[in-house]
Amino acid sequence: MRLTKLELAGFKSFAKKTELSFGEGITAVIGPNGSGKSNIADAIRWVLGEQSAKALRGTRMEDVIFSGTQERKSLGYCEVILSFDNSDGTLAIPYQEVAVSRRLYRSGESEYCINNNNCRLKDVQELFRDTGIGKDGYSIISQGKVDEILSNKSNERRVALEEAAGVMRFRVRKEEAARKLENTEKNLVRLEDIIAELEDRLGPLEQQSDIAKQYLKLRDELKDLEINQFLYQMDRSKERLKNNASVLDQIAEREKEIEVQSAQLQTDCLQLEDRSQGLDA
Ligand code: ATP
Repeated sequence: MRLTKLELAGFKSFAKKTELSFGEGITAVIGPNGSGKSNIADAIRWVLGEQSAKALRGTRMEDVIFSGTQERKSLGYCEVILSFDNSDGTLAIPYQEVAVSRRLYRSGESEYCINNNNCRLKDVQELFRDTGIGKDGYSIISQGKVDEILSNKSNERRVALEEAAGVMRFRVRKEEAARKLENTEKNLVRLEDIIAELEDRLGPLEQQSDIAKQYLKLRDELKDLEINQFLYQMDRSKERLKNNASVLDQIAEREKEIEVQSAQLQTDCLQLEDRSQGLDA
């Protein structure tokens, strides 16, 4: 894998769109003090995801956008594109040419792209992990960094060596796994608390459950009894209805007999009245 091109637009002192091509061998950038040499290294660091304005020699991230000169107005955004020849497949991405870009607007809005596809900062970091090219990689050694590596700060030296040895990827994964494990352990403790709390409530809940079961059993029994009672009352009512109907029949028969008798008596009465009138006459 080889660095092939750096394009800057509106980044620090590079107001105009500038393209730097890196050929085979060594490329040296030379120029007088303050001409913008370190800005090139800053641009590389920035496009690879640098989040610290201080590491880019500014106070706010916005400081990387061209702030204007006497002859030229300030700009509203900046963009840096870094291209690599990936024909040896070092980067785990199926492209021979890989271009990573970062854009920042004065509003604070920013975006990253890998081969013109929007992506997250994490994707850029993941792409370059263990290649030594990350923003903390050993391939960008800025002024003062050599001293840092040679100094006694073992932790920083270790980070650079681990990146070079290609174990950074696993270290990050290990840290992620450890974090997940820690979260799982916390969840486990919480679960144990919940279980303990639930166990306390188990006794009264068992009693309530027994009472509820008994209630359901008694309710079913009551329902059966009510049905039986209803059927029994219905049978009795039917029987009484039958009896009443036969009594009614008897009464009706008797009524008919009485009507016949009454008609006979009326006839007799009329005959007697006729006889009485005859006798009177
Ligand atoms: P030295 O050799 O002294 O380290 P250098 O060549 O590395 O210098 P840099 O430090 O890269 O130079 O560039 C500094 C120049 O960049 C300064 O002239 C500064 O005004 C200019 N500069 C930095 N940020 C901006 C910005 N946001 N807008 C315009 N110019 C900027």
